[in-house]
Amino acid sequence: MTFSLRGLAVAPGIAIGRAVLIASSRVEVAHYFISTDAVEAEIERIRAGRDAVIEELGRLQKSVSQMSRNEAPHELVAMLEVHLMLLQDEMLSDGVRHWICERHYNAEWALTTQLEIISRQFDEMEDPYLRERKADLEQVVERILRHMQGASALMTDLNKTNSNSTPRNPIRNDKQQSPQQNLLSEEKHDVPLVLIAHDLSPADMLQFKQSVFAGFVTDVGGKTSHTAIVARSMNIPAVVGTRAASQLINQDDWVIIDGDAGVVIVDPSPIVLSEYNFKKRQGELERTRLLRLINTTANTLDGQKIELLANIEVPEDAAAALDVGVLGVGLFRSEFLFMGREVKGLSTLPSEEEQFNAYKNVVLGMHGLPVTIRTIDIGADKPLDKKEKAQDAHLNPALGLRAIRWSLSEPDMFITQLRAILRASSFGQINLLIPMLCAVSEIQQTLAAIALAKKQLDDEGIAYGSVPIGAMIEIPAAALMLPTFLKYFDFLSIGTNDLIQYTLAIDRADEAVSYLYDPLHPAVLHLISNTIKQADLHGKPVSVCGEMAGDASMTKLLLGMGLRSFSMHPAQLLKVKQQILRTDTRKLKTWTQQVLNAESPQEFI
Ligand code: PEP
Ligand code: MG
Repeated sequence: MTFSLRGLAVAPGIAIGRAVLIASSRVEVAHYFISTDAVEAEIERIRAGRDAVIEELGRLQKSVSQMSRNEAPHELVAMLEVHLMLLQDEMLSDGVRHWICERHYNAEWALTTQLEIISRQFDEMEDPYLRERKADLEQVVERILRHMQGASALMTDLNKTNSNSTPRNPIRNDKQQSPQQNLLSEEKHDVPLVLIAHDLSPADMLQFKQSVFAGFVTDVGGKTSHTAIVARSMNIPAVVGTRAASQLINQDDWVIIDGDAGVVIVDPSPIVLSEYNFKKRQGELERTRLLRLINTTANTLDGQKIELLANIEVPEDAAAALDVGVLGVGLFRSEFLFMGREVKGLSTLPSEEEQFNAYKNVVLGMHGLPVTIRTIDIGADKPLDKKEKAQDAHLNPALGLRAIRWSLSEPDMFITQLRAILRASSFGQINLLIPMLCAVSEIQQTLAAIALAKKQLDDEGIAYGSVPIGAMIEIPAAALMLPTFLKYFDFLSIGTNDLIQYTLAIDRADEAVSYLYDPLHPAVLHLISNTIKQADLHGKPVSVCGEMAGDASMTKLLLGMGLRSFSMHPAQLLKVKQQILRTDTRKLKTWTQQVLNAESPQEFI
C-alpha cells in the first residue's frame, strides 16, 4: 500500500531503492554485506547455529521427560515445545535464506531482519496467546546468535525461564559493535538500497561514506544535526525527523526519498515511480551542468574575488575538495578522528602520532593549500561513544561540557592534540581554529595551552610552522564581544549552525522544534552581519563555515553583508559558485539593508 511520510529535507536529490532497516539497538549484531562466494558458507553458519540449538533443547527436553510429573516445571516443558517448533519454522529459515541469497546480508543480520518481520506479524495478531509468542521467537533467535558467536549462555537463560516469567532478553552482540558498522561492500548490488533507521550517530553516518546506500531516512534529527551534515557531505539524498519511518516501513519495501522536499514515499505506484525517475534524471543533468564551473574563478560580476573553502570530516575528504576546485580547507572537524573508537565499551583516544599523521595527510593531500583544523568539538550530538550519550540523556548536552570546554577540562588530551596539529604545520599552511569560546578566561586558558604545547616542542627540538589562531563565533556572547575576540585572534569563523541554535534556544538536533530553527531570524542576521563588519574594520579575515555558507539561497545575502570567504562541503560548492558568478555586490547594498531591517526577512529572499 502506498503511503508517504514527511520529514526534514537535509540532503538534496532523489533516491529510489529497497529499504534496508537497521534493527533497533535492542538487537545489536554486526551488519555487513557478504560476497556472492560467501553465500553458501553463510547459510551453513546459520544452519549450524540452529542445529546446535535444536540439539541442546532436544537434550534438555529428554532430561525433563525423565523427571517426575511434580518435578518437571510446566512452563519449561511448554516453552521447550514452542521453541523447538519455532526453530523448525519455515518462515524463519526461508526468510533468512532470502536475505542472505538475495540481499547478501551476513547471517546475523539476515536472522535479525527476519525476526523483525515475523515480530511485526505477531504484533498484529488478535489472539493474546499467539501475540506473546513473539518473546519466544526472540529467545530462539538469541540462542542461535549466541551459538554463532560461540557463547553458551543457554543454561542460564533456561533457569531464568524456569522462574515463571518469560524473559525478554535483549540480544546483544558480545563484541559491542555498532550495528551500523561494516555496512560497506565492494560488491555491486543489482538493486539500489536505501537505509532506514531510527537514529544514526554522526560516527555511524561517517561509516556510510563508502557504503552502497543510495539514500538515508531517520526518525529523529534536525536539519543541522551532525548526522544531517555528514549526510549532506556525502551528496546522497536524505530525509531526517520523519518520526516513525523505521516503524512504518518494512524491510525490502520500495522507497522513494525526495531529499529536496523532505518526503519519503513507500511502495509507490508505477505512475509516481516514473515521475520521480524523471525528477532524478533532471537532478543528475543539473549536477553535470554545474561541473562546467569547476575551473571558473569564483568572481562576482563586479570582480570581487570570493574564497571558497571546504568543510571536511576525515583526511580522505581532501580529494573530493580538490576535485571541485576549493582554495583550501576552511573547517576540518577533527572530532571525527576521536569518535566511534570504543574497545570493549571503553573510549580510546587517538595518540599524538596517529593524529599527527592524520593532520599531515590532510595538509599533504591539499598540495600546499591552507588547511584550517578545528580542535576537537565533542559533546552534544557528537558523543565520543554511545555510553556517553546515554549518560547525558537527562541533561542538556548542547549547553554542557562540549568543544573547547571539554578540551580545557582534559588538558593532557588537549595538549596532545595541539602538539600533533603544530607538528603537522611543518608540512604546509595550517590555521588553528577553536570552537565554542564564550569567555575571556577560556580564551586566555586556550592561548596558554597553545603556548605550552609550543614550548614543549621547542624544548624537544621539534619543528613547527607559523600557525594563525582563530576563534569560532557560534555563541551569541562571542558575537556580542567581538572587540575581545578580535584582540586575541588572527581570524574568525562564524559557525552559523550553533549560532542559530544558541541565539534562538532551539536544539539543532531536535525535529520537534525544527520549525523554529531559522537562519533568517532577524537576531541571527544581525549577529552575522555585525561579526563580518567588525572583523573587516579590524582588518581580520572572517569566514562562515556553518551550513548557511553552503546554502545557495543564502549566498547573495552573505555577499551583501560583506562576506568574502565561504566554507562548505564540496558537494555544495558549485551551486554556491553559480550564485556568486551571477551577483553584482554593488547592487546588494540597499536590498541587504532592507533584509536586515525587516521583521520577516524571508519575504525578501
Ligand atoms: C557550526 O556550528 O556552524 C559549525 C560549523 O560547527 P559544527 O556544525 O561542527 O558544530
Ligand atoms: Mg558548531
